Amino acid sequence: MNPMDFPKYFADAETSFKDAEIILFGVPYDKTTSFRPGASKAPDKIREASWNFETYNIRTNFDLREAKFHDYGNIDVKNDKPEIMIKKVKDITSRILNEKKFPIAIGGEHSITPGIIQAFPKDIAVLSLDAHIDFRDEYEKESFNHACVIRRIADHVNIKNIAVLGVRSAEKEEFIEAKKQGLFYVDSYEIRKEGIQKTLEKTKQYLKNKKIYLTLDIDVIDPSFAPGVSTPEPFGLTTFDVLECIEFFSSQLVGFDLVEVCPPYDHGETSVLAAKIVRLVIENIYSNK
Ligand code: MN
Ligand code: MN
Repeated sequence: MNPMDFPKYFADAETSFKDAEIILFGVPYDKTTSFRPGASKAPDKIREASWNFETYNIRTNFDLREAKFHDYGNIDVKNDKPEIMIKKVKDITSRILNEKKFPIAIGGEHSITPGIIQAFPKDIAVLSLDAHIDFRDEYEKESFNHACVIRRIADHVNIKNIAVLGVRSAEKEEFIEAKKQGLFYVDSYEIRKEGIQKTLEKTKQYLKNKKIYLTLDIDVIDPSFAPGVSTPEPFGLTTFDVLECIEFFSSQLVGFDLVEVCPPYDHGETSVLAAKIVRLVIENIYSNK
């Protein structure tokens, strides 16, 4: 079957909004992108790629057809200013949380995440997997730029409850400020040296048993595995590192997003990986039920 002939929703999302326990929505937004635009095309490309897989996964021993999960479609943000986009993302997330459902967002660029976080209580923890520390207070005169994500999240969640893994890129001043404010991060070189399990245990100890929101900027993964991203950065994590991270924290998760896939620079492999990771998160949530 031609990919164009597959349904437009994420594979196996066959449950109604009302009956679903997990709600997926797309945020096709890339207006603050600094290097390569195109992330707004990602939600639909990732949905298309999702039809590639068998419904059953031998790793999780779970068949996705058993998940009560709904694809809400994309929210209409394409031409919005960042503040308006953030508000719309917050509103849909609040609606999902009010109905005690688990939100999964697919970007779009990373600038969407603070909108999601604003809908959560302030006492959650946030785990960000990202090649970039995203700790600028402002970038190109825009405080909701995708380079300022962690800074904006820290406006809502105490910085002591934020952890960033896989970092390997920042401005010097940005790093100094992150250190000064006590941001917990582990760079990709240390993860490589220590091993991912040790890193995850250290991170768990730091975040204690808090509920965790996981934001996955797919550029945390090495460009050899995930080349189709807006701002590629060599010396990244492996796909297995990310798998282990999701499995390790899945019992604590309260929400998830996957951002920064950039289809114009992808031959399909990054979208396929993204779709697989979204499926993995859902499967792991069910494995913990
Ligand atoms: Mn980012
Ligand atoms: Mn990044």
